[in-house]
Amino acid sequence: MADIKKIRNDAFKALGLTQENSGVYNGKWVEYNKENALDSISPIDGTLLGSVSTASPNDYDKSIKIIEKAFLEWSVTPAPTRGNIIRKISRSLEEQKANLGKIVSLEAGKVISEGEGEIQEMIDVGYFASGLSRQLYGSMMVSERPLHRLYDQYVPLGPIGIISAFNFPTAVWSWNSLIAAVTGDTSIWKPSSKGSLAAVAVMKVIAKVIEEESVPPIFALVNGRGSKIGELMISDKRLKLISFTGSVKTGKRISTVVSGRLGRTLLELGGNNCAIVSEKADMNMALKGVAFGALATTGQRCTSTRRIVVNSKIYDEFLSKLISIYKTTQIGNPLDKGILVGPLIDNNAISNYEQAIQTAINQGGKILYGGKVLSREKGYYVQPTLIEAREDMYITMEETFAPILYVFKYNTMLEAMKIHNDVPQGLASAIFTNDLKEEEYFLSARGSDCGIANINTSTAGAEIGGAFGGEKDTGGGRESGSDAWKLYMRRQTVTKNYGDDVPLSQGVTFDID
Ligand code: NAD
Repeated sequence: MADIKKIRNDAFKALGLTQENSGVYNGKWVEYNKENALDSISPIDGTLLGSVSTASPNDYDKSIKIIEKAFLEWSVTPAPTRGNIIRKISRSLEEQKANLGKIVSLEAGKVISEGEGEIQEMIDVGYFASGLSRQLYGSMMVSERPLHRLYDQYVPLGPIGIISAFNFPTAVWSWNSLIAAVTGDTSIWKPSSKGSLAAVAVMKVIAKVIEEESVPPIFALVNGRGSKIGELMISDKRLKLISFTGSVKTGKRISTVVSGRLGRTLLELGGNNCAIVSEKADMNMALKGVAFGALATTGQRCTSTRRIVVNSKIYDEFLSKLISIYKTTQIGNPLDKGILVGPLIDNNAISNYEQAIQTAINQGGKILYGGKVLSREKGYYVQPTLIEAREDMYITMEETFAPILYVFKYNTMLEAMKIHNDVPQGLASAIFTNDLKEEEYFLSARGSDCGIANINTSTAGAEIGGAFGGEKDTGGGRESGSDAWKLYMRRQTVTKNYGDDVPLSQGVTFDID
C-alpha cells in the first residue's frame, strides 16, 4: 500500500511546498493569506494536502499591471531568445517530473503514470514551443501593383488569460502559456480551485527559471474561485484573449461575456466521444482502445470514450470480452501498483454518476456491468459502468464526467455514423476497422464531425504535436501543436511600396494634379 503521507511529504520537500502556500505569483509570491484560502484535499483518501491562498481583486489588478509591463519588454525580445527560456523551463520540469507528477496524482487522483504523463506533456510542449520560436512565419503574396510587396506577419497579441479545468490541472496551462510565451505574449493563469496545489507546484519550478534568467514576469498565477477571479478575468479588456478549458455550461457564459467586449476566446469545452467498432476491426486492438478510453483517468478526460457503437455481427463477443476486462480492472488507490482506475474528484462527481445511471435506467437503458458507488467517504470510488443504450435516450447526449460507457449496436455504417454524430459535442472520435473504405468514410465530409478523428486508436490520449480541440458545443478552439500558435498572435497584412508613385489597386485612379 502506497504511503500517501510519505509521498506527499517527500514531494512537498523537493518542490518547496508547505502546509500553507501562497497561490498568487506575479514575479514574486504574494504573502499567504488565510482568508478565502482553498483547501487541497486528495480524492484518494480525503487527506488534507495543504492550503493555497487566493488572489484578492487588488492582487489580481496588480498582477495584470505587472504582466502588461512585462509584455512591453518580452514582446520585442527576439523570438528565438524567448524560445531559449522556454527550453530551460522544459529542462527544469524534466528534473522535477517525478515530484510534480506525484502532486498531480495526489490532488487529481490520477495513477502515477498519468500524473507523470501530464508533466511529460508540459515538457514536450515546451520543447515544441522552443522549436516554434524560429518558425513564426506568415506568407508572402504577390502584389497586383508594380514595385509593391505584400505579406502577412504575426505580431504578439498582448497579455492573455488562461482559465483551466480540474482534470488536467497543469498540462492545459502549458499548452497555452508556453506557446503564447514564444509568440511574445505574457499570461495570467486561474487554475481550477480543485487543482490549486498542482498549479502552485508548477509555478514554483517556473518561477525559479524566470528569476535565474532575469526574465520579466511573463507568467502570473491567481488562484481563486471562478465566480470571483474568473469573472474579473473574462470582463477585463486588458486581456486580449481568454483561453478557457472547462464545461460547456461555463464556456457559454465565458463566450458571451468576452464576445460582449469584442475580446477573443479560445474555447476547449466538454466532449461526448464515441468509438465505432466494426466487424472488420482487430478485436484485441478495439478492446484495448475502448478500455483505455473509457477507464483511464476514471472517465474524467475531455476525450474519454463515453459511447461505443458496435457492429451487430460481433456485438455479443465484443461485449462479453469488454465485461471481462471491466471485471478484472483494479480500482483503488492510484498510487498503488496495478491500479488502473482511481477515484472521482469529489462527492459531487459521485452524485452526477448516480444521477446519470438512474436517468439512463429511467430512459430504458440496461446496466451490463457496474453501477455501484464503492466509497464516498475518505475517497470517492465508483464501479466503471457499461450501459446498453438506445438512440432516444437523452442522457447519452450529455457528458457525465465519470466512467459510464453507453453501448449501441449498428448494422450499417450509415446507422453507426448517425449515432456517432448525433450529439451536441464534437471533440474526439475513433473507428476500429481494417477496412480502407470504412476508414475513408469515417474521415469524409459525411463521417466524423469531431475535431479529432482516430483510426484504430482510442479517443483519448492525444499527442501535443497536433492541434487539439473540437467542434460544435466543444467550442471550436485549437491548442498546442500544428499552427495553433497563430491564435496567440495578431495577423497583420503588410503592403510595402518601394516605387516612386502611388498606384492604386483594382485599377482605381485618383489624380490630384
Ligand atoms: P468547469 O467549467 O466547472 O470549470 C472550469 C474552470 O472555469 C475552473 O477554473 C473554474 O473555476 C472556472 N469558472 C467557473 N465559473 C466561472 C466563471 N463564471 N467565470 C470564469 N471562470 C469560471 O469545468 P471542470 O469541472 O473544472 O472541468 C471539467 C470539464 O472541462 C469537462 O466538461 C471537460 O470535458 C472539460 N475539459 C475540456 C477540455 C478540452 O480540451 N476540450 C480539457 C479538459 C477538460
